[in-house]
Formats: sequence, structure tokens, C-alpha cells
Amino acid sequence: MVATWQVDTTIFQNNIRQVVGNQKIMAVVKNNAYNYGLEFAVRQFLEAGIEAFSTTSLDEAIKVKRITPNAVVFLMNATTHFEKLRQYGIHMTLPSLLFYHRYSDELYDIHVHIEYENLLHRSGFKSLDEIKHVLNEHSDNQNSKMKITGLWTHFGYADEFECSEYETERYDWLNIVESLYEEGYRFEMIHSQNSASYFREGHLLERHTHARVGIALYGSRPYSNLERDAISQSLVLKANVIQVRTVHKGEHCGYSFAYTAVQNNTKLAVVDIGYGDGILRSRSKHEVMINERIYPIRALMMSHMFVEVDEYVSPGDEVIIYNETLRIDDYTFKGVGANSEQLSALNLDSLKKEYLS
Ligand SMILES: *Cc1c(COP(=O)(O)O)cnc(C)c1O
Repeated sequence: MVATWQVDTTIFQNNIRQVVGNQKIMAVVKNNAYNYGLEFAVRQFLEAGIEAFSTTSLDEAIKVKRITPNAVVFLMNATTHFEKLRQYGIHMTLPSLLFYHRYSDELYDIHVHIEYENLLHRSGFKSLDEIKHVLNEHSDNQNSKMKITGLWTHFGYADEFECSEYETERYDWLNIVESLYEEGYRFEMIHSQNSASYFREGHLLERHTHARVGIALYGSRPYSNLERDAISQSLVLKANVIQVRTVHKGEHCGYSFAYTAVQNNTKLAVVDIGYGDGILRSRSKHEVMINERIYPIRALMMSHMFVEVDEYVSPGDEVIIYNETLRIDDYTFKGVGANSEQLSALNLDSLKKEYLS
């Protein structure tokens, strides 16, 4: 018996198809495809008709190109390994005017997507003038130059509904896109929308060629008022009851008084999963499911946890931490941590990994 990380391939595939609908999607596969496994995820996306991918690491971009040489692979973080980009035909962000001035001679033949800075302020060009400066300089001499293929931005507030920042950044960005269009500039690819923006809008923004979607493709809702069945979770995380112990009122359990029994004859199940497997401390404030019943986690240790149970639970029973009922996104909305945070914490070196076909 070992704790197991399990993905149902059919649910995964059906979810992709539902999210994609008839829109063009660039699948975000950063951080080992949100821990779903880069190769698995890329093959599933290809099967669903997705032909564009993006990630933050050059190594991952190369891996994707090796799986599917004809797909567009877009590197969202700039690198100076220009030879590798040329060798594999990887597209890259052009992150700032400074980067352009510094490396314009070395960027020849590389497909770049000009990045517009937004309220996230993580990267990007500051203004329309900065962007036009590069576009104009570029049009003077086409020899030995980079290829300007795309225009993109990343919204910092699309997941927020309580404030107006998303409307502001969306408005600024659409102004940039429209001004460039009106002045005759054309781009093969324009993309900005993450999962939240894609679902909020219900379609691609004007003049966009792709939405750049991550978490929804992996089965978690980006915000809470999106209906539950718009997105399906294929991931099950489960462990096992290895013992059931009885403790009495006032007895401390776990390290450093982690839990103190409130009543006599409290039954505690010892479960073979812990923070070393990637269970977040914040997740351990909530419940698990054993034999279809819900029980509270009482203490979290490195490779174990205590769950308070009753007479219906015995050693050998399966303990569900995440499944289609105990969804990652629901815990996100309860404040456990971002969807991607819960997913990427899971330790695939210690958990048994299974893809059900
Ligand atoms: C992670 C990421 C995305 C995808 O965001 P989701 O909310 O997972 O859809 C899109 N663009 C950039 C730049 C990212 O870093």
C-alpha cells in the first residue's frame, strides 16, 4: 500500500475538448505541465487538436519540440541561449526594449513575440511607442534580423472579481492591439488570455489568434462562480489507513502537541501520506473521504497524517485527499492555496504515479 497520484486519461481528454470548444488554444505546459507530466500532457493536447504550447523553461520547450517538431512552442521567459532557439525553432518573448537593444544582433532568425507589460509589471514593453520603435527599426532592414511573429501580454488580475484592475489592463492592452492594427502592423499570433480571462470573456479577445490557457486544461476552475461542470478534475490523490488507534481526552498526538484529543475513545486513523508527499499544511485544516464518508484531518506529519474517524473505518481502507468530490479548485476557493500551488506541491518522487487509460 502506497499513496497514489492517479489521472484518468479519459476524463483528462474530455476536459481538454470541453475547454477548447471551437477556439484556438496555446496550452501552457510549464512546471512539468502543472505536475501532470510534460510528455503525457503534450500528447493529450495534440490528440485534442492543440498545436501551440508555451512554457517558462528552455529545457521544457526543447522537450516539447522533440515530441512535436511542427508545433509552435513559445518560451515565455527570455533566454540568451540563442543557438538552441534557432536549432529547435522555438519562439521566444521579446521582454523589453533593453533586451532588444542589447541582443538585436544575436537574435537573427529567431521568432519573437513582443511582450506588453501590464499591471503585473513582471516583464514587457512599457508603451506603444516602445513597441513601435522596435517594429519600425525592424522594418528598415530585413536581413539578419529576428522575426517578429507575435504580440502578447499576461493579465495579472483576470482571476480577481472584487476590483476593476482586470478591466483596466484589458482596456489598455486592447488599445495597444487596435492601435497597431490601425497603423498597419500585422502579427501572426496575438495572445493574452489565461484560463480566467478566457472563461470570463467566453471567447478570444478581438484580433487574438490564441488563448494561452493552463489550469482549466488540467481540470481546475480559475474562479469560484464558474459552474462546476464547466471543468472536470481527472486527478485522484489517495492514501491508506495503516492503523486505527484509540486515544483519550487530553492525550497529545503527533509532534509537539499537534492534536489533543477532546474526548475519551477518540479514534484516530494513521494515514500513509504527509507533507513530504506534498500535502500542504493549509490543506490539512480540512477533510478527507474514507468509504464515501467525510472525516477531519487532525495532524500532518512528514509521511503520515492523523484523521479522526469512527467505527466505520478500518486499517486498509482507502483515504481520498483529492477526487471529483474533494476538488482542488474547491480548496483553492477555501483559501488552501492556488490550484497550481496545490498541484505542484505534490511530490511525484514519493507518490506512486498512475495514468488510467
Ligand atoms: C501560467 C501562465 C499562464 C496560464 O495561466 P492559467 O491561469 O493557468 O491559465 C498564461 N500565461 C502566462 C505568462 C503564465 O505564466
